[in-house]
Amino acid sequence: MIYIAIDGPAGSGKSSVASGLARKLGFRHLNTGNIYRMVALLWLRSNQPDFSQDFFEMIKAKHFSVVDDAILMDGEIHEDDLRTLEVGKVVSKVAEIPEIREIITDKSREIVKSGNFVVEGRDIGTVVLPDAFLKIFLTASVEERAKRRYRELVSKNLEANFEDIIDEIRQRDSIDSSREVAPLKPAADAVLVLTDGLSLEEVIEKIYVLYTERMKSVKD
Ligand code: C5P
Repeated sequence: MIYIAIDGPAGSGKSSVASGLARKLGFRHLNTGNIYRMVALLWLRSNQPDFSQDFFEMIKAKHFSVVDDAILMDGEIHEDDLRTLEVGKVVSKVAEIPEIREIITDKSREIVKSGNFVVEGRDIGTVVLPDAFLKIFLTASVEERAKRRYRELVSKNLEANFEDIIDEIRQRDSIDSSREVAPLKPAADAVLVLTDGLSLEEVIEKIYVLYTERMKSVKD
């Protein structure tokens, strides 16, 4: 199997890039952030202030799979319900819990056994798939990232406030980069790609070229 790992902070364009790249290469696409968001939604629904062993067992028993860019839990598709501000506000807290990270890492590795995958997240190159064929660390300025998230929410007719989005991104960056388990950081062998001022197609092309060059060097 061939894996391309794409890591980077919230709103760096990972999802659009990973989706477009997967389509271009004929790979499948796993957005691990969607699994973290799904677990955050389950936690919100549980109405429990703490994370209990029962909660961990409940997640372990769930079956996750992908179809196109979306995640399925027990065969049911989840998309817009994972992208609300409510979920966005708690997901980093949920992602700090080591037991939850372990469960999601196992589930992610299981999913990608079925084919070639572009896998996006925060710790794909460092923890989930340390032997990935190509590792990309995508990034962009906070303002650029907030603008993108704002447009995404508006296009889906979801509630959006620019200042709230900037605050949420800053807060998530800080929690994601400073947590003890699997903090957001580029793998030592990742290629850094700054996306400010680049179109989606330009970013996809850049990574596509990196991929074909690496493929060529492996074959030579
Ligand atoms: O990618 P997205 O912004 O939707 O991810 C939501 C959250 O899930 C992130 O802010 C991060 O806290 C968590 N996450 C993670 N590790 C991953 C993917 C996502 O901690 N591999």
